[in-house]
Formats: sequence, structure tokens, C-alpha cells
Amino acid sequence: MQTASDETAFRTLQNNIATVQRRISDACLRAGREVNSVRLVAASKSNSPERIMLAKRAGIGIFGENRVQELCEKRDKGAYEGAELHLIGHLQRNKVKQVAGQLELIHSVDSLELLSAINACCEKQQKQQKVLIELNLDEEASKTGLSPALLEPLLEQAGKLSAVSIVGLMGIPPKNGKCSENCNYFGRMQELFIDIQRKKYDNVKMAELSMGMSADFEEAILEGATLIRIGTAIFGARDYGTLE
Ligand SMILES: *Cc1c(COP(=O)(O)O)cnc(C)c1O
Repeated sequence: MQTASDETAFRTLQNNIATVQRRISDACLRAGREVNSVRLVAASKSNSPERIMLAKRAGIGIFGENRVQELCEKRDKGAYEGAELHLIGHLQRNKVKQVAGQLELIHSVDSLELLSAINACCEKQQKQQKVLIELNLDEEASKTGLSPALLEPLLEQAGKLSAVSIVGLMGIPPKNGKCSENCNYFGRMQELFIDIQRKKYDNVKMAELSMGMSADFEEAILEGATLIRIGTAIFGARDYGTLE
């Protein structure tokens, strides 16, 4: 049954999504990019299956979750049916079985060990998994992400891991970074992205650059983001502590 409050929630989501889409178009225009070169991933952590379904009805086609357990619970309830589902949060090796080979994209692979574990799990199921490598450009500021010095050694191994395909990079600038610092972070991500694109590793295709959240997605688009991960600007402020 559709209640009046569902209808209000739906209208709010519709308006928020329209605003985000307008801002994406404006940023693309400024960057001289095609609007369809940027895809919006709705970061839906802490939102119920019902709200996710409303967001789907309001036009969201890709959802990104942070936690494997929350993703599985909501997936079991059919929340994402008809939409793409991505994992954007940290993946622990003991949770690989629950998602490998089952998602459109995993944004957050940050070690060769994790990549190998996903590959082994997919091989068993005869499935293929697309992944991004999450980088950590400012190592002291963040706990997750691969050190850029380890990126090329990892990419050299990718040719041997035939059940995974690396399709790009993901980055999260340090929290509370100033806008100018985040722009610089995005710029450095883009440089690495282009550099790897030129080098041509087996089984690596640098097509996607996942960066930019509610506070800074326009800057990310100016620096070449192809996937932006937006939570607050779509769903409103999360009503409990951090779930990152
Ligand atoms: C929550 C989250 C986002 C979205 O953050 P907002 O600031 O709410 O837009 C993006 N990426 C990751 C990895 C997240 O955990």
C-alpha cells in the first residue's frame, strides 16, 4: 500500500535526484564532457529496502553499498532488483564469498591478496567479476586503499587472474580535506589513470574512474570521474553515526 508519507518521501527523492542530475550536467558542460560519460551511483548505506525501492522508482539505476552484510540483507529482500548493485566500501577477505561474481562492480579492491581471493572464488563458480582498484594517495590520512607504489606490481599480476577484470580506479580524498586539496587529489588520480591507460596491462582496462561524493562531485567530474558516489545529496543526512 502506498501511504501519504511514502508519496512525500518519493517527491523529495525525485527533487533531490533532479538537482544532482542538473549539477552533473552543469559540471559536464564546464568540463566539456558528454553528460552520459558520468554515471551516478546512489550510496544507499543506512537506507531501508523500501527507500531504495522508492529511489529506483525515482530514476536511480545504480546503488552502491558499503557493508557486505547490509548489502546481502537488503538484496535478499529484493531491494535492488532491476538496478545495478556495486560494493563501494571496504571488502574483508572472509566476506568475498558473499559477493564475488554477483555484483556489477566492486569499487574497493585494495590488495593483490583480495584480488586473488575474488578471482579464486569466481573461478570456482565460473563467473567473472569487474573490479576497480582503490588507491590511497595520502597514506597517513586513510586506512584503506592501495599505496600507488604497489599499483603497477599488482597490475602486472592481473593477466594471470582471468576471472576478474580490472576496469578502473577508485579514490576517496581524506575527510575534511579542503576543496582545493580534494581537487588536487582528483587531479592526481586522473594522472595515474591516464598513465596506466597508456601502459596497457593484460586484463586491465582503464575505463572507470570512481571519485566524488556529495560535497565534491563537481570537482571530481572536472578531473575526469566517470562514476560518482552520492549519498547525502540524494537521501538526506544519515541519521546515525558513520558507517564508512
Ligand atoms: C557514504 C559513501 C559515499 C557517499 O557519501 P556522501 O557524502 O553521503 O555523498 C561515497 N563513497 C563511499 C565509499 C561512501 O561510503
